[in-house]
Amino acid sequence: MKIYREKCRLCGEPSKLELGHIAPSFVIKYLKNTSITGYMRRSDEPNITFQDGEKHPLFCRNCENKFSSDENYFAKEVFFPYHKRILGPIKYDYRLGRFCILQAFRKIVYNEVITNKLSIYKPTIRKRLIKARDFFREFLMVGGKTQNEYSNHIIFANLIDNVGSNMPQLPPNINMYLTRSVDTAIVYSEKNKLFIYNKLCKIMILTFITPRKPRDYEGTRIYGAGTLNPSRCDITLPVSILHFWIDRALKVNESQEKLTNAQQELIIKRFLKNEDRILNSECTEAHLADEKLQSN
Ligand SMILES: [Zn+2]
Repeated sequence: MKIYREKCRLCGEPSKLELGHIAPSFVIKYLKNTSITGYMRRSDEPNITFQDGEKHPLFCRNCENKFSSDENYFAKEVFFPYHKRILGPIKYDYRLGRFCILQAFRKIVYNEVITNKLSIYKPTIRKRLIKARDFFREFLMVGGKTQNEYSNHIIFANLIDNVGSNMPQLPPNINMYLTRSVDTAIVYSEKNKLFIYNKLCKIMILTFITPRKPRDYEGTRIYGAGTLNPSRCDITLPVSILHFWIDRALKVNESQEKLTNAQQELIIKRFLKNEDRILNSECTEAHLADEKLQSN
């Protein structure tokens, strides 16, 4: 294991930093185990397969350990039940909100330290992100249970197999994107909306920086405790989030077009070698739903 000596981004102690995943490792493992070939590709470098997801030295062992109990909670109570199609109500407590904050915190720190991308935002946005980062850090450091500053929202994705007449044109991989991808972004719109987006396969977490409690998301907010109902139909989302998903899916689609012929052949070979995994796989379902959409 590689060891890095630097300041931990949570507790601030100079320490041996551990290589940690940006997306939790159980999500990466799940994606790998349920993929047909057992390999994953990054959308920015589609010609390279990787086995273990992206890892960076950001936190010390103590802090990584601190995170793991909330990660385990989310994995066991929310992520796996939903991906195993248990669609009934899920009771949750404060650990769910804290997990959401942890993901938002990781994303801001990642952009700040690894990609140096906080510099692309104008000063007012950067200021808000840094203020939120400091609040999240303090909240995580003291093991806070609930907070009423920034609202977390969870959206459960599912396959789209038919479209209403007023729906915008959907990209050919929209279902693959919605159900089979891991994605993360700091999203800013001209209307002053700023949120951290963390998509873990079929579960999307939005942590709002401004407005802290958006009015156009109804039925998706996470409180200190409550009941999640993944199959409820009465949630309201703004159309802008659909356009955002379309944009993200298109980006993945564009990158797939960069695949070299040799890589495409390799993928087909791996597919054929794993024929038994093709039936009943989530990938196949998503592909079929995408094909159905395109033929409508
Ligand atoms: Zn630490």
